[in-house]
Amino acid sequence: MCTTCGCGTDQVLIRGKTARHPNKPNEPLHFRAHERVVQTEVQVRPPLPNPLPHAGEGANESLREINFDRSEAKRIVKLEQDILAKNNSLAHSNRKRFAESAILALNLVSSPGSGKTTLLVHTLQALKGKLPLAVIEGDQQTDFDAERIRATGVEAIQINTGKGCHLDALMVEHALQQLPLPQDGVLFIENVGNLVCPAAFDLGEAAKVVVFSVTEGEDKPLKYPDMFRAARLMLLSKCDLLPHLDFDADLAIAYARRVNPQLQVIRLSATSGTGMAEWLEWITTACRAERVAAAQTA
Ligand code: MG
Repeated sequence: MCTTCGCGTDQVLIRGKTARHPNKPNEPLHFRAHERVVQTEVQVRPPLPNPLPHAGEGANESLREINFDRSEAKRIVKLEQDILAKNNSLAHSNRKRFAESAILALNLVSSPGSGKTTLLVHTLQALKGKLPLAVIEGDQQTDFDAERIRATGVEAIQINTGKGCHLDALMVEHALQQLPLPQDGVLFIENVGNLVCPAAFDLGEAAKVVVFSVTEGEDKPLKYPDMFRAARLMLLSKCDLLPHLDFDADLAIAYARRVNPQLQVIRLSATSGTGMAEWLEWITTACRAERVAAAQTA
């Protein structure tokens, strides 16, 4: 991964107040995403001729050239499986670490601009002082979101994925080395805004929470079913804007449940406060379940 979208070929940067290179304290921590090595290996599909051949003389020859080689396709699928298997193994060790400290880890996923960071800021303000909290922020560039989180007084680490379009378990593992773990509390992981690749990458979280804003189309769950299938909870965000939009919230929820009948749904608005109590209750209930599970396995 991502042999489909071509991401993951850049250097990853972890930025935080305490995220520094162990041997060079004045420098931020960099590391290469493990996909980089593989990515150079999988650029095997020949470019399509431009213009594409028309039926007629020479067309068969050209079409043979652009036919995707089945053995190469199998090799790419195998590489994807290997990368996801490696990611799953790292995710397993992250999950074990969370379980040992009774930490509820939530992976917030969405398309860009759904309001994840604003929702997170309001959530942290409401939970601060009641639960130990920490945040991992994922974006391709800038540490703007981590700065917004730190302004609430909650510890945050920013992961910049460079050209990468998703967080993976290795990035989270690195970030955890720099972040004080919120024992018996909640770790929020705000993923890169993207409804495709983050669905495939387990980070070790207890649940994926998909944030779906009413400024998007109702049919997003049908267009991007993997994400809605992978999520346990859907937050229908920015509901304060509904009176101004031609958006059918019931239809959007019906589409989401068509791809995932078990999906829990909360309608909310971080700015007006609608639905926030239900969301906070969902978090505290899930947090309690983590503590009970940790106590039983201790
Ligand atoms: Mg954000």
